[in-house]
Order: sequence, then structure tokens, then C-alpha cells
Amino acid sequence: MDLDPAEMVNEIKEKVILHWNCRGLTELPEIIRKYGSHIQEIYLKWNKLTTLPPWIIELFNVTNLYIYGNLIKELPAELGNMSQLTVLDLSANKLEEIPSCIGNLINIESLLLNDNYIKKLPMEMSQLCNLQVLSLSGNEFVALPEWLGSLPKLKELNADNNYLKELPNRLTLAPKMSMISVCSNRLKYLPLNGFLSSPCIRFDANEYLNYLSYPVLIQLACQIHTSVTRDSVNILGYKCFTLQCEDNTLSANIKLNIKINASCNKSIVIELPRQILRIHNVNENKTVSLWELALRKVYKQRYKHTLHISTSPINIKVIYKQNTKRNFDFLMPSINFASYNLLTNGPATICVNSYCQQPIFTEAWVIVGISHHVYSITTIALCCCRSCAFEFMTNSNMIVNFHWYCIN
Ligand SMILES: [Zn+2]
Repeated sequence: MDLDPAEMVNEIKEKVILHWNCRGLTELPEIIRKYGSHIQEIYLKWNKLTTLPPWIIELFNVTNLYIYGNLIKELPAELGNMSQLTVLDLSANKLEEIPSCIGNLINIESLLLNDNYIKKLPMEMSQLCNLQVLSLSGNEFVALPEWLGSLPKLKELNADNNYLKELPNRLTLAPKMSMISVCSNRLKYLPLNGFLSSPCIRFDANEYLNYLSYPVLIQLACQIHTSVTRDSVNILGYKCFTLQCEDNTLSANIKLNIKINASCNKSIVIELPRQILRIHNVNENKTVSLWELALRKVYKQRYKHTLHISTSPINIKVIYKQNTKRNFDFLMPSINFASYNLLTNGPATICVNSYCQQPIFTEAWVIVGISHHVYSITTIALCCCRSCAFEFMTNSNMIVNFHWYCIN
């Protein structure tokens, strides 16, 4: 499209929102620098931009910047000075890295990075205290950082079509999360703990995912029961739970071989999250390690983390009550790095015996079975000790008829 400079100048002068989509632009026209300081929103979708000019910081009234569908490979450091930005859409570009300067966009509410070639996010993004929507679908992520769960306003996380093997444990503690979408990844497990804010979680087409923890299963089943209408059938985990055995010896995580049908030797292998280092069967009379006991005690001194399961009506609540005013105030020098990480990322789960509710970090007694609520899905419940496991087996609605053994 031929662009008449005089016409563009007039357009800039008259408007606060510029619609410059599909104009064949190879660079941001410099006339906007001269006449466009009042501009608030710029739409530059489906052009041919390869970068953004450093002088973009002079557009200090721009709050919404849409650069979807260009050829951008790198972002200038100056972008980080546009702290007035609330929406930044960089989807469908050629980005391989997100520069650390993005962490300076302290007013950003919506950051869309879908369909690029990104593998990781810079640590500086953990400062984005106003971020509500983060979209990372169609990239090359294998893992997501734990600090995502500490972004105070994060409501929506989209990470479909990546290579995710697990989700951050701390995501379960995200206070405002309402939607997590992680379809078409390589997840072998979801976090074990119930989610604090009870978000809707979409995780279809994770073919290696073959079980859910009891708290998460109840939480998700509850959402489905309330959302199913007469005309639609809502399926939990479409293209998941296909009884696939993934015997990946490279992974150091604990795996359980579960005998589904003893007569025909049918079994499945499930993999536990890497936080779990030791597990026991209810029949084993073992004592908990001193390290695990210490972690539980230190954590409980600062936080009260409770899970309420009532079966009629199906209901689950996770209450995460902070006992001190400071957030995650475990002092690094006083404990070793592994303990520090475990404490700041929160417990892997909490004991499913509702009268106990001890936090569980690395060691648990495991019960494998199926739940009354969703018959088709293998579920596991973790307890802090043997007596809690017996208590839970007696009083829960879980059908425990599976034998399992541990593969390490
Ligand atoms: Zn317990």
C-alpha cells in the first residue's frame, strides 16, 4: 500500500488511536516521533517490522501497543522505559529472547508473547506486580519459573502448545489466578496441592498425563459439575488419562507402577513431581526423616495452609493464611539452598487427612485409587504419616483397590 506522508501526518494529528494494521510497514514511520506525542494506542498488526526504534520512548502517552504478526527478532532496551504501557502484544513475531528491561514495565497488565521462539522468561519479570494476563502459547518453554505464582495480580496464564514437562509448584498459591491453560504440552503431572484460588485449568492433549492428585481432582470435578448444562458434556482432560506407560529412565523423579488389573497383569506407570523424594506404602512402618520434619515445622511457624474437603456438596477450599506480615521471609543464610527453595515454593501438598493438614515437602505416605466423583481417572492422595493414611482410607470416598510399587 502506498503511504502518503502528508496524509499520515494528518492522521496522526487528528487521532489518539492509530490503526496502522496491514500497511506493509518495514519500520515505524519517524513522522510519528515528530507529531505523535499525544498518541495513546498504536495498532501495527501484520506489518513487516523487524525491530522497534529506540526513539519509541518519546511516545510517552502510548499505553497500548499491538505489534502482532511482524518480523521482530529483538527488542530495544529503550522499550523498558515505556513504563506507562498497560498492554503489549508481541505475538506472532520472531522473538527468541525477552530482554530483562521488560521487568521495568511496572504498569503492564496484559503481556502477549504467543507464537514466538521463546524458551525462558527473565527473572526481572517477577517485578511486574500489575500483570494480570500473561500469554505464552506456541513457544518453546520446557518449564515455567516458580515466581509466576507470586505475581500478586496474575489472573490468566496461557501456555498452550509448548513443551512443558511440569508446572511451577508455587502456581497453586497464586492469589488471584482464575484461568490456567496448558493444553498440548508434555505434562506428566499437575501440581499435587489444591489451588488456592480454584482456577479453571485447561490441560487437554497432554498425552503423558495419566493421574491427578486427590485435592486437584475434587477441585476440578467440582467445577465440571457446576458448569455442565443439559446440552453440553464437559470432559476433564480430553486426550489425557489414556493409560500410557512412559518409561523414561532419564527422569530422576519417583515413578509408581500401579497394577490396574491383577488377573491380566495390566499396569500403568505414573510419575510424581520432583519435590517428592521419598514415598511409603501404608503398610510400611517407617519414620519421617528429620529434614522433612524440620521443613514442616519451619513452614508452619510462618504459614497456616489448610484444605477443606466436604463431600456433600462436593466442595474444596484452600485457605492460605499468612502468619506474619512479610511475604516469604525465610532467611537464606540460616538454611541451605535446597531447604530455602522448598520453603519458598511452598509444600508439594498438604496431608489429605482433614484433621491433620500438615504441609508435605519431600516425603509422604501415598494412597492410590479412584474417586467416586470421576471413576475414570487414577488419583493419588498423600499423607504426612502412616496413621493419617489409615484415617483417610477409612473415612474418604476414595476406592482403594490398587497395588503399586515404586520405581526409582
Ligand atoms: Zn497428616
